[in-house]
Amino acid sequence: EKLGLNEIRKMFRDFYVSKDHYPGKSASLIPKNDKSLLIINSGMAPLKNYFSGAEVPPAKRMTTCQKCIRTGDIDNVGLTSRHGTFFEMLGNFSFGDYFKEKSLTWGWEFLTEYLKMPADKIWATIYLDDDEAYRIWHDVIGLPDDRIVRLGKEDNFWEIGLGPCGPDSEIFFDRGPEYGCGKPDCRPGCECDRYIEIWNHVFTQFSKEEDGSYTDLAHPNIDTGMGLERMACVMQDVDSIFDVDTIRYILNGVVDLCGKEYEAGDAKADVSMRIITDHMRSMVFMISDGIIPSNEGRGYVLRRLIRRAARHGRILGIEGNFLQGLADRVIEVSKEAYPELLEKQDYIKKIISLEECKFATTLDQGCSIITECIDDMKKENKTVLSGDKAFKLYDTYGFPLELTEEILEENNMTADVEGFDENMKQQKETARAGRKSTDEEAWKDADIVVDVPETEFTGYNDLVDQCKVLK
Ligand code: ATP
Ligand code: MG
Ligand code: MG
Ligand code: MG
Repeated sequence: EKLGLNEIRKMFRDFYVSKDHYPGKSASLIPKNDKSLLIINSGMAPLKNYFSGAEVPPAKRMTTCQKCIRTGDIDNVGLTSRHGTFFEMLGNFSFGDYFKEKSLTWGWEFLTEYLKMPADKIWATIYLDDDEAYRIWHDVIGLPDDRIVRLGKEDNFWEIGLGPCGPDSEIFFDRGPEYGCGKPDCRPGCECDRYIEIWNHVFTQFSKEEDGSYTDLAHPNIDTGMGLERMACVMQDVDSIFDVDTIRYILNGVVDLCGKEYEAGDAKADVSMRIITDHMRSMVFMISDGIIPSNEGRGYVLRRLIRRAARHGRILGIEGNFLQGLADRVIEVSKEAYPELLEKQDYIKKIISLEECKFATTLDQGCSIITECIDDMKKENKTVLSGDKAFKLYDTYGFPLELTEEILEENNMTADVEGFDENMKQQKETARAGRKSTDEEAWKDADIVVDVPETEFTGYNDLVDQCKVLK
């Protein structure tokens, strides 16, 4: 029997609890007291204060499964086998307690003994001159020399600005030549799908100083991150994270809705199905953590994801509002680990359907306008849509710039982003003069809505009903 994604999450926790780690809960996707980050994107992000010493951790060893969003990966989603905008990161952490040897040997034990992953398929990358990591991999664990790859700073050194930083060691699984690019130098770090990066062990042992030098930290830390979906992909021996049990269940919902088969020869349709599946997971988790669609910050990220998913639904020929129905599937497979999803199910679906509805009323108009623009541009031999027009699509028809760009790109065209930004700036200045609202105040509103999830949202009900009438 293949291990389910939900089982792997539990096994990771049990394993590290057996090694005296305190099992922490996933933090919210909204960072707390951290202006440097819009949305939580790694297991260590919400634990930063424990690493810096600003706060005392509940224990010196901790393990979590953290919900993460990486919108920076959005262009990979649906195209690679291993990227989602949403994913869960499993991690073990040491706040000045154990260091490299325990982190790597326990990691190895978890993979090869607990999960019974074939040892001969595992590779490790280390930082160029991290001889200690080499010694542990080679002498202690027994990984052969030709499966230990030394890479440079871009690949195997973790640092952001000044302060704690250090080398890392990444663990890859070889899925076999059938997934590879075939190049003779194909090995971990290659962009193709053969070697899948599953786990990163970061050894925070230095502090980067103002003058660019590195000093040793008195108490080095361990911060690791393993992609749960990728582990499940490897353990279930499937092609991509979208074929993992829980995620495939969501994708099957998309398949049912559009009446097309998955992976039946239409590569473009497959991409759309995967994009919808991924964005569904992101939107459900973001809303459950209190983000609502808006034109700024996190709310805008959410709006983009919802609208992009809705548009890919159109591409697949799905009619009407369909996202909230798929939300049920996301909640179904994740509710055990994240009970808040079930508690807020109705609320989540209302927010999604309201946004989808808002978008639907303008999508058709917007689409015909952009099609007209594209036709005109073709006639005039132009390839750049003016900033004014891109802004009008955004402002009047609710087309996020990225969506406009995506549609243009499908026609080998681009948008004048600078011109768009100029329009945006002007509009913001006008608006600010009018209502003196800042980003922060807009977010306060979002918090107010979410602090009272038990309230009957009759307002939304009305709107959603209105929307049905419109359809
Ligand atoms: P990649 O090189 O594949 O983009 P990464 O080096 O950016 O991954 P890390 O920042 O090291 O990833 O994050 C730790 C782990 O989280 C990775 O080893 C991987 O298993 C997982 N992970 C990272 N990004 C994603 C994503 N977009 N979707 C799913 N899992 C991810
Ligand atoms: Mg990445
Ligand atoms: Mg990487
Ligand atoms: Mg990495």
